[in-house]
Amino acid sequence: MVQTTELVKVIVVGGSYAGVATIQALLSSIKSGHKNIQIILIEKRDARHHPIGAFRALVDAEYAKRVWIPYTNLFPKDSHHKIIQDTVTQVHHDHVVLASGQTVYFEYLALCTGSSNPAPAKFTLDSSEESMAITNKAREDLKKSKSAVVVGGGASGVELAGEIKNAFPEKKVTLIHSSQTLVDYPGYSPVLKSGALTHLRDLGIDVVLGFQAEIEGLNFQNSIQVAPRIIVTPSGKTIESDIQFLSVGIRVDTSYISTLKPSTNPSFDSSTLVHSDTRQIKVQKTLQVIGFDNIFAAGDCADYSKVPTAAASGVIAPTIAKNILALEDAKRKKKTAKLSNPGWYPSVMLLATGPETGVTALPLIGNRFSNSLSKALKSKDLMIGMTNASMNWK
Ligand SMILES: Cc1cc2nc3c(=O)[nH]c(=O)nc-3n(C[C@H](O)[C@H](O)[C@H](O)COP(=O)(O)OP(=O)(O)OC[C@H]3O[C@@H](n4cnc5c(N)ncnc54)[C@H](O)[C@@H]3O)c2cc1C
Repeated sequence: MVQTTELVKVIVVGGSYAGVATIQALLSSIKSGHKNIQIILIEKRDARHHPIGAFRALVDAEYAKRVWIPYTNLFPKDSHHKIIQDTVTQVHHDHVVLASGQTVYFEYLALCTGSSNPAPAKFTLDSSEESMAITNKAREDLKKSKSAVVVGGGASGVELAGEIKNAFPEKKVTLIHSSQTLVDYPGYSPVLKSGALTHLRDLGIDVVLGFQAEIEGLNFQNSIQVAPRIIVTPSGKTIESDIQFLSVGIRVDTSYISTLKPSTNPSFDSSTLVHSDTRQIKVQKTLQVIGFDNIFAAGDCADYSKVPTAAASGVIAPTIAKNILALEDAKRKKKTAKLSNPGWYPSVMLLATGPETGVTALPLIGNRFSNSLSKALKSKDLMIGMTNASMNWK
């Protein structure tokens, strides 16, 4: 057993795709040496949410039981790693302060605090039970409804409309999108974008493009509404619905970083650490927060990927572990560390519209593959098996 005083403390904030990928990479290195690393996961929730499965959970009560995964088995039993369930409210150069008032010191820090989307995609609540209750209520409301409107034609909106139509083929489902192109992200093939439109229309979803629908009371915080509505488009088309979902945009909360200053420069302007529009943390190619060798960020809260995805987080975040270990080795050998970059990540996009259907963009191979490929790669279980495995949970 390593003495507590010899431990090198690595705090990971946020136990989702980026945080768990960092932890898994650290754990593998610890197995093959580096026994003195202690990982401390600080996560505000009582369980890990798997947003990739959120819309299947909306329509399938059995599946819903699997999208919240306990942290119980994340670390090997009897290891010196630990999990603190709390919210990081302040980051300083060598410690973090939690909502409870506790201070936790570190040698290295990995910020993996992600993003929020409107429910039922993601939840702002820290309780898995209360978050699940939102999904369960929406499912019951959806079952009683005759017609549903989804506002927002990004990846989430496309998947939400698809899952609803697949589970309830008798319901009228309308997807309303403000621009003329669905899933219009930089770096993705136009074939995927037009393919998504054709795919949804083939499923029987009414897709209305170029219309910015403003529905009273429907907003980021209140993103599911049960009310009889008639929406009239500028061209005079009427869209009736009795349940509406907002599926627009992601938000990043990195306010905790406003306290971060180098120990040698108390007049440092911390607002320069984040982008003023997206609030994402600015990182170097090594994933180090600009100006701080021992503080890293990855996943949706960092500006490394143009389009933040779980897949990108999984590929990129392990570089944090690699670089922490390189810095530790260099310190021991009194040498300069050779740090790595995560390198290039392809713009892969898999859009699931039910367990059997979907649209796929695999840039190195091709786009718009058949439903069977989407099913094999994602649609069938929405990667819940893989996510459970990363948590050592069955
Ligand atoms: C419906 C939906 C479907 C998606 N499908 C796909 C897909 O098929 N493929 C894909 O690649 N991507 C997909 N994505 C995108 C993917 O979910 C995100 O890119 C991913 O969640 C980012 O992971 P992350 O680890 O950066 O952060 P998040 O998953 O957002 O997790 C952040 C974690 O940090 C915790 N946290 C936040 N702030 C604090 C704090 N201050 N203190 C302590 N803990 C904190 C949160 O509780 C949370 O557990 C989908 C997203 C949605 C909404």
